[in-house]
Amino acid sequence: MERLSLWIPTELVTPGIMVVFAAGFVWAWTVDRSRTYPLFLAGACLLFSAGISSQVLHIPRALGPGTLISGALYTLAVLIACEAILRRSGATLGWRLHAISFLGIMLLLWYFFYVERNLLARVYTQNFGYGLVLLVTAIVMGRTRSRRTIDRVLVWSLLLFAVHFFPRTLFTIGFSAPQSSPEAFGASAFWKMLQLSLGVFGAGLALTVLAATLTDAMDGLRDERDKDGLTGVLNRRGFEERTSRLRGRRRTDDGVLILCDLDRFKQINDTYGHSAGDAVLKAFGFILQGAVREHDIVGRIGGEEFALLLSDTDIFGARELSSRLRQEIKKARFAFLPEGRHITASFGIAEWHRGSSYRDAFSVADRRLYAAKRSGRDSVVATDDGAGAEIDRADRVG
Ligand code: GH3
Ligand code: MG
Ligand code: MG
Repeated sequence: MERLSLWIPTELVTPGIMVVFAAGFVWAWTVDRSRTYPLFLAGACLLFSAGISSQVLHIPRALGPGTLISGALYTLAVLIACEAILRRSGATLGWRLHAISFLGIMLLLWYFFYVERNLLARVYTQNFGYGLVLLVTAIVMGRTRSRRTIDRVLVWSLLLFAVHFFPRTLFTIGFSAPQSSPEAFGASAFWKMLQLSLGVFGAGLALTVLAATLTDAMDGLRDERDKDGLTGVLNRRGFEERTSRLRGRRRTDDGVLILCDLDRFKQINDTYGHSAGDAVLKAFGFILQGAVREHDIVGRIGGEEFALLLSDTDIFGARELSSRLRQEIKKARFAFLPEGRHITASFGIAEWHRGSSYRDAFSVADRRLYAAKRSGRDSVVATDDGAGAEIDRADRVG
């Protein structure tokens, strides 16, 4: 061990771990390249690693430039990491705060080295400065009020990491100037505690951020998997999964399942071409998605068949909505359609009572959709007796 430490200073363990984290963030980025913040996190880890390495290895040798260079590397690492963490949640620190923090910390470091040499002040500048930046980041992220577990864990990890800078610095260095020779400083309780805390809290935070990054990447992949590429609504798999998840959560509420099917869609394909059919599907998906509330679920569950699950709505509300949707698609204009021709759709509605299964609700809605088709299409059926009153087709065109 003794011999090993001649070759590899143990202080290089933390920078080594940071390089591993950087690789982890780059890897997370390769899983889902649509988000760039993991690359910034990787950059922050490398800067941090470079900051510690420059201090431990005394590069550059001269004390003044060394102080400023390692200070700049640490400060950039903290600011970039905080910004990347916030960007992930759609927030930001803003360039002004970045500029003020960076210039403020660098100016103080410069002043307390070149004008009034004071190591104690430099230590407080950096530790309290980073603690404050992290604290503000935790508060801004907390304000996004995300209810996801990983986001909450991240806010608390940030907070813990931010707050630890203050007591650690106070307790390990107090108010007396530490030895300023690099060797004595390296052997001080402050420096040892700093390494330990960065190893424990810093690595803990980095691990949480990495977990959040991977969670995002997996969520992104799952969203892609569950989405219908043509219309942007959920595909059958996504619809069924989300439906059962929602129903599993809301045991006490009833819901409504609406099945809708474009009428004589094969004819549209045959007459105007497949891409015209695709345009109709897209438009219908858009109309459906635009008509529901955030917690309702819309999916394309077959070629030209869509489904909606409405929560907190009764059969009357569902019928009203279906009626509106029926009219909306009929009113939609398509360049390929000759004047006087419309696209229509038929709707079957089933109440989904507590305790009944998706399959039960589906077969009832499907039966009613079939009744709507039999009644001449372009209509809404919400009951089984199929009598005139139950069939909404007030303005049906032939
Ligand atoms: P109905 O009124 O009874 O529903 O008649 P329909 O012609 O709409 O029903 P049918 O099931 O006979 O035809 C559905 C057609 O939908 C057949 C298929 O070619 C077409 N289709 C399925 N998926 C797609 C797609 O992704 N794009 C296009 N353009 N057409 C599709
Ligand atoms: Mg059809
Ligand atoms: Mg069909």
